[in-house]
Amino acid sequence: MNQAPEPSLKAGLYIVATPIGNLGDITLRAAETLRGVAAVACEDTRVTGRLLHHLGAKPRMIRYDDHADGRAREAILGLATEAAVALVSDAGTPLISDPGFRLVREARERGIAVTSLPGPSAGIVALTLAGLPTDRFVFAGFLPAKAKARSEALLELAAIRATLVFYETGPRLVASLEAIDKGLPGRDVAVARELTKLFEECRTGSAAELAKHYRENPPKGEIVLLVGPPAEGGAAPDALEIDRLLTAAMENAKASQAAGEVARMHGLDRKALYARALELQGR
Ligand code: SAM
Repeated sequence: MNQAPEPSLKAGLYIVATPIGNLGDITLRAAETLRGVAAVACEDTRVTGRLLHHLGAKPRMIRYDDHADGRAREAILGLATEAAVALVSDAGTPLISDPGFRLVREARERGIAVTSLPGPSAGIVALTLAGLPTDRFVFAGFLPAKAKARSEALLELAAIRATLVFYETGPRLVASLEAIDKGLPGRDVAVARELTKLFEECRTGSAAELAKHYRENPPKGEIVLLVGPPAEGGAAPDALEIDRLLTAAMENAKASQAAGEVARMHGLDRKALYARALELQGR
């Protein structure tokens, strides 16, 4: 193994992944780097302070958020031209549904060296646990909180032949599972919760089964929601299925648009679907 020792770190920005629950998942290189940098940019100084304390690291901490005004970014980039500066998030890999994209883009534009230290990321951990296909996957971040935007987002993803990976919160899980049951019917689904922690759980089933389970057992903690791809060369949807798809699509779109979307997703005849959509509407 060609291991790069880091006794004195070169100036630049170091993107450092940190554990998503189990502190044992910090890498040797991450620990060494956090002990060697002059400053750490982080989301929450209390959260990162605890990790640094655990590692015996004492760098200066700078609060950073991509959406805040540019002053913190300027300070971090200024420092990174002459010293080693790390970026961490509260947990997992920075930039993945977390701040850092703008910082990295500007660092690159200014010729500042950027080094990424790989480590845990909840979506990848969930993919390796759930037993769903991993040859193609799409990381889709958090689903929108509002029902209409959520079903539109699912409709947009419906034709993709890949496992879909979402970050989710406990209070919204059941609503998301219900929307998946309507918008992406027939898929294998997995809920991966509290990964790497004491109460880790990975539960699989249909969206309807999982919605029922979590309605009865409201979930606590952090969640990744996975939706398997549509069945390979799957049989064309039957009449009942078509009605379900059209009804779901018409919650947010006119009959003609809904027919178009379902036709595109399943390679069906748009005119026939439009006629059926009008019938369903007229009921
Ligand atoms: N950057 C992080 C990463 O690489 O995984 C993700 C940050 S995002 C703001 C936080 C979300 O990640 C949580 O709401 C949850 O969906 C997911 N997550 C983080 N830690 C998790 C864990 N231990 N188990 C399950 N999901 C987790």
